[in-house]
Amino acid sequence: MRKIIRKEPKKKVDDPYLLPRSLPEPTICPSCNLLYHDKRWIRNDELANMVSMIAYKYKCPSCRKIEDHYAMGIVNISGNFYVNHKEEIINLVKNVEEKEILRNPLDRIMSLKNVKDKVTIETTSENLAIAIGKALKRAYKGNLEIKFSSNNKLVRVNWQRD
Ligand SMILES: [Zn+2]
Repeated sequence: MRKIIRKEPKKKVDDPYLLPRSLPEPTICPSCNLLYHDKRWIRNDELANMVSMIAYKYKCPSCRKIEDHYAMGIVNISGNFYVNHKEEIINLVKNVEEKEILRNPLDRIMSLKNVKDKVTIETTSENLAIAIGKALKRAYKGNLEIKFSSNNKLVRVNWQRD
């Protein structure tokens, strides 16, 4: 008998917070009101409110990561260009988050620290960190570096322009 093996692109970062793989439905995250539906977390406040009385309560992976301070992406933005365009660049970063969150409500910025001439952003997913780096590169050129940690725990994205 032949085994059919479905080839899926190997994920570069392991996400321990996606376990347990399935929850009873409906389940609602008591922190952010995401709804677990069809085996994934979605944003549907209307439906979430409708079922809230009977729904199980379990925090979504994003809220648990934020609580535990478990970042899966770190973006470092530095260089003179940043110093001279701080506001514009932070706005771009926030726009990327708004866009990504519509695609996957678990992709969020966890923290944003501005220290003198650089900013460090922690994200709940590697996708969002990479999306921010690529958007910066697209908008302003500069140097983009994406590095996966050796133990597949997180991705580091460095963007710099002088
Ligand atoms: Zn949540």
